[in-house]
Amino acid sequence: MRWFFILTIVPVLVVVDSLAVAEPAAQIDDPAVHLNTVGYLPESRKLGTAATKIEDFVVRDLKTGKQVLQGSTSQLVAGSAGQPIYQLDFSAVNREGTYRIEFGEQGSSEFHVAKDVYNWPFYCVMRAMYLSRCGIEVSAVIDGKRFEHGACHTEDAYLDFIGGPVGKRKDGTGGWHDAGDYNKYTVNAAFTAGMLLTAWEHFHERLAKLKLDVPESGNRIPDFLNEVRWELDWLIKMQAGDGSVYHLISTRDFGGYGLPDKEKERRYFSHWSSAATANFVAIMAQSSRVYQEFDKDFSDRCLIAAKKSYAFLQSHDENHRPDLSAFHTGQYDTHDSDDRLWAAAELWETTGVESVLRDCEKRINSAKLDSAPSSLTVDADWDWSNLRNLGVFSYLRSKRPGRDAAIVTRVRNDTVRVADEIADAAVRHPYSRPFGNKYYWGCNGTVARQTMNLNIAYELTNDRRYRDAMLDALNHLFGRNSYGRSYVTGLGRRPPLFPHDRRSAGGKVDNPWPGYLVGGPWPKPTDWLDDKDNYKTNEIAINWNGALVYALAAFVDPLSFDASTREARNLAKGESATER
Ligand SMILES: [Zn+2]
Repeated sequence: MRWFFILTIVPVLVVVDSLAVAEPAAQIDDPAVHLNTVGYLPESRKLGTAATKIEDFVVRDLKTGKQVLQGSTSQLVAGSAGQPIYQLDFSAVNREGTYRIEFGEQGSSEFHVAKDVYNWPFYCVMRAMYLSRCGIEVSAVIDGKRFEHGACHTEDAYLDFIGGPVGKRKDGTGGWHDAGDYNKYTVNAAFTAGMLLTAWEHFHERLAKLKLDVPESGNRIPDFLNEVRWELDWLIKMQAGDGSVYHLISTRDFGGYGLPDKEKERRYFSHWSSAATANFVAIMAQSSRVYQEFDKDFSDRCLIAAKKSYAFLQSHDENHRPDLSAFHTGQYDTHDSDDRLWAAAELWETTGVESVLRDCEKRINSAKLDSAPSSLTVDADWDWSNLRNLGVFSYLRSKRPGRDAAIVTRVRNDTVRVADEIADAAVRHPYSRPFGNKYYWGCNGTVARQTMNLNIAYELTNDRRYRDAMLDALNHLFGRNSYGRSYVTGLGRRPPLFPHDRRSAGGKVDNPWPGYLVGGPWPKPTDWLDDKDNYKTNEIAINWNGALVYALAAFVDPLSFDASTREARNLAKGESATER
């Protein structure tokens, strides 16, 4: 165990009370101070990290040239094998502007302080969801550069592996490409749509009027929901006649680099799985609720679909894994206990049926997951393979009567306890990473996703430190990390240039498709490689972007959104008028 302690008192005392592994700066030519290179909200906590010794620093307003803050630095010292790490606190810089931290000859990259700093990132990350659309041509202009491809995978998909007839097709077009590859996996698709619709349910007042330039813009449905609808319409096609839900549509092997409309390999339906079926119930039930005020027919269709698949699951209580031996692509193999919990939670929240509530509560009380053998009902570390938090949080936030008071209390306490662990981990970490020192495939997605844990705790307690930790997550992803770089293509300082993304690696553009969060370093915090072949740390994926959408949705500023994105929207509109 290594201990950090404070050697120097800083303007705002930071208590660093327990273990943290120092992350050495990965590249010596980085700026000396690593911070959020996208920017900070005016009233937020603002911290930077330096790996070299700093005594005092100043913050300079780059417009006026004036110093606006002088500060001293806290030195966080790792014992034995760890390196000294220095923390800078410039929270007092709360006037809108563009600044730089300086000390001696060194400094940070410039950073912005503004109430709209997350508007452009939100626009880009939602644009990235649009650009992931399958089955349709896409075209968007971001920062003056155009990204486009023709309609792809219009033959989705063949029935050979679900009993035929061999060489025959059924409509499975649409949806979002899953990740660096172009296949479509129901479990991850429903999970990602669930993250977005949950963002809608938590932040709809911020999201309802945002213009996102999707082809459906101008209809009566908010653009945010128009984008999610593209995925939902595909998911509906994944339901079989008996209510079971196909696990995936995929080529048999991964294809090479290139734009999706150039991929001509046949793609096939796989057999159903109980996890896919349960996730389908959940997302259809949630969709029925969310879309009811905008499109009643669609809402009704979703509810009918959800009930049909829920009934199927009731008569198939085994964890049914499909035979995927024909496919050498993504498997998304998972136990269905968390998926069934999510299904029951969303179906109850939409219908109020008591038997479904009892099903949900039984699962919350007894959930024992392969990946989370915890007695807690809430997870700090979660993703598509364990998504019970989506169900547990819907249950907790419900206004419906009839819940078991003891279970509600247990979930509430667990939510706060887990959020405390996350917020404490951020305080202990040299780069205030709320996920602490866990690094694995896709861990950047988890850093973004934990903002949901923190937001629920914030709703329950109104304690600002949960909100601070949510911003710590964004700070980390946008540059306050061992690289001093943004992990999101097209955003912030030195973002990834070579993501593992078949479009970026195979298209004619010399810059990657923007708005995508890459998976991040593992097994060590300095193991990220910005290399198109390095799928283990540099791939993109809809479930990571879906988590980032949630994190950004909490801070997007609707009143300044039009102004923040006006130029991009005009360009996009001009392009789309002739292109679409
Ligand atoms: Zn496609």
